Amino acid sequence: MTLDMRILDTQNAGFETELDNLLAWEAVSDNQVQHTVLDILHHVKTQGDAAVIEYTNKFDRLTAKAMTELEIGQEQLQAALDGLPDDQRVALQEAAARVRRYHEKQKQDSWKYTEDDGTMLGQQVRPMDRVGIYVPGGKAAYPSSVLMNALPAHVAGVDEIIMVVPTPDGEVNQLVLAAAAVAGVTRCFTIGGAQAVAALAYGTETIPKVDKIVGPGNIFVATAKRFVFGEVGIDMIAGPSEILVVCDGKTDPDWIAMDLFSQAEHDEDAQSILLSWDQDYIDAVKASIEKLLPTMERADIIRASLSERGALIKVKDQADAVKIANRIAPEHLELSVEDPEAMAQEIRHAGAIFMGRYTAEALGDYCAGPNHVLPTSGTARFSSPLGVYDFQKRSSLIMCSADGASELGKVASVLARGEYLTAHARSAEYRIKD
Ligand code: NAD
Repeated sequence: MTLDMRILDTQNAGFETELDNLLAWEAVSDNQVQHTVLDILHHVKTQGDAAVIEYTNKFDRLTAKAMTELEIGQEQLQAALDGLPDDQRVALQEAAARVRRYHEKQKQDSWKYTEDDGTMLGQQVRPMDRVGIYVPGGKAAYPSSVLMNALPAHVAGVDEIIMVVPTPDGEVNQLVLAAAAVAGVTRCFTIGGAQAVAALAYGTETIPKVDKIVGPGNIFVATAKRFVFGEVGIDMIAGPSEILVVCDGKTDPDWIAMDLFSQAEHDEDAQSILLSWDQDYIDAVKASIEKLLPTMERADIIRASLSERGALIKVKDQADAVKIANRIAPEHLELSVEDPEAMAQEIRHAGAIFMGRYTAEALGDYCAGPNHVLPTSGTARFSSPLGVYDFQKRSSLIMCSADGASELGKVASVLARGEYLTAHARSAEYRIKD
């Protein structure tokens, strides 16, 4: 069966409209989902543990009677790690070490300086007290998501990391638990969906209220996070995963086809796009896709994703490729070209940039070091990968000297009186020297 995939050319009339159509993604959940989620949030807020147990039994097909049945203790997390086959334990620890090392570099430090009048000004950086990590578990298990969400929090110095992960039909994934042990998770609950987000946001008799909730999830999770924002912080609302590959035509087309598949296999809505200025190469990648697709375990999902949302785009030249890449602002950008460092300098918007023919995006998903939680749907225009800075907050520091208070007092007094805020003005004026 040949694959019906979009083939576009930036030089064709109508390309802009075709690109708009390709990128269009309606992220908002429908009314029914919103209604369900609001109902769940309300019940968990007012009935605590009882509601969490009821929804978990209903959606994950369990028969729990108490929250103790939905918590996994530290000994069990450690036992999961100890019980892994050697190759899995070593791979998990190696990935965690790389991710931790990378994130150590992101730590922001406090700073201060002194003005000429002796006033000290600065910024004090502190970690959050308690955060919630949502680890998806409805259709698949994601040990790498445990590492990518919990390790930056741990590096930031967060005291308590509360992890939630649904276990449909009671199936607990040992790699996920082992990853929690490696990443320093404090408490772990086997709950998911909107009820888990609600429990973390409002707190229950058993589950502590957190300051921020991070981590990807399905439409119920994303909608719940959107609703509880303000009560707690959230990281981002993630859309479907995306990859944009720019290739000069000199990388093995099978490699590029497989890199496009590696996003497409996530789900039908995932987006995989290739940009090249070499028409023969685009044809070669198309042939590789046709050849390799039948060999893939998730061929149906890949086919649906590539035919619905994928594209092979012929660009005029390298500069044209950079222009389109910046316009798309992709979550993952692969630069499979001779001089990727030079090209990366021209990139203004991308979640993560994978440079050179050897840098498969899949390596970044698991173990290279940088975070795999990245801005999707063009939001790389204004946001960044999940990092240590997402778990740190800043307080401003001001300590006036007597001279500083006197000089600043004169300025503040004038501005405060202009606003008719007399208490502000007099508070400042008291400190002006005679
Ligand atoms: P999930 O944990 O997000 O959702 C499962 C939960 O959804 C269930 O426990 C249940 O409580 C709730 N739910 C299911 N049907 C419901 C219904 N009809 N009404 C109310 N609640 C219901 O797991 P998932 O479904 O497998 O989704 C995971 C998502 O996370 C996928 O879209 C995947 O692509 C994404 N993901 C993203 C990343 C990333 O880094 N961006 C990583 C891993 C996974």
